[in-house]
Amino acid sequence: MKILVSVKRVIDFNVKVRVRPDGTGVETANVKMSMNPFDEIAVEEAIRLKEKGIATEVIAVSCGGAACQETLRTALALGADRAILVLTDVELQPLAVAKLLRALVQKELPQIVLLGKQAIDDDANQTGQMLAALLDWPQATFASKVDVAGATATVKREVDGGLETVEVALPAVVTTDLRLNEPRYATLPNIMKAKKKPLDTLAPEALGVDVAPRLVTVKVTEPAKRKGGGRVADVKELVAKLRNEAKILS
Ligand code: AMP
Repeated sequence: MKILVSVKRVIDFNVKVRVRPDGTGVETANVKMSMNPFDEIAVEEAIRLKEKGIATEVIAVSCGGAACQETLRTALALGADRAILVLTDVELQPLAVAKLLRALVQKELPQIVLLGKQAIDDDANQTGQMLAALLDWPQATFASKVDVAGATATVKREVDGGLETVEVALPAVVTTDLRLNEPRYATLPNIMKAKKKPLDTLAPEALGVDVAPRLVTVKVTEPAKRKGGGRVADVKELVAKLRNEAKILS
């Protein structure tokens, strides 16, 4: 069984994101970029399924500029067998990525597509769901445990009330939540080996997909600065503040 796993290149989660002065987006020049953390979890899960003998091939896919090759090399170093870069400089929105992934699914015929539940840059939480809808496949989102047996995947999902268990018939789309697994680190020998693994590049046109943005970003602004805290002299003052000021705020 083939598994397709999508990996997005995003601003590293440790970086303090800065909004461009013209409010058109966030600064990405000279900023450390990494694989979206939820996609690291997706890659790890795909590799574990291969190690268990369930998957036969893990294909990593990234859509974006040439620099996404770096993200794909990381996926290859972690254990993916080959990679596909859908190369475009157009700013991709979730629907465009979902359409590109659908085209790749139709070409590669995987039984499972693993995605992160959301990309930490746009926080859209849409691509997996849109892909499942476009393919008319079942979806199991926010997975915190995945068991594959025969033509079925049993997925535990984190929901507000606790854990929900769903069974989906394969082929299916699965999106990963934080507690699904703890991704491994790439070892130096595997980083070297990854350089020799196949990485194909395709244009969106070759997949017959129009990736033109459908949404316009009107404005991006920094969150309001937190007002500084204050010290209270004693419990009496604290209680008075909670009674009066906290009341006014609520
Ligand atoms: P989003 O819907 O944008 O929050 O993204 C959800 C998931 O879709 C991510 O965790 C990735 O697995 C996948 N994804 C989104 N954009 C891309 C991209 N440009 N290239 C590869 N995968 C992507």
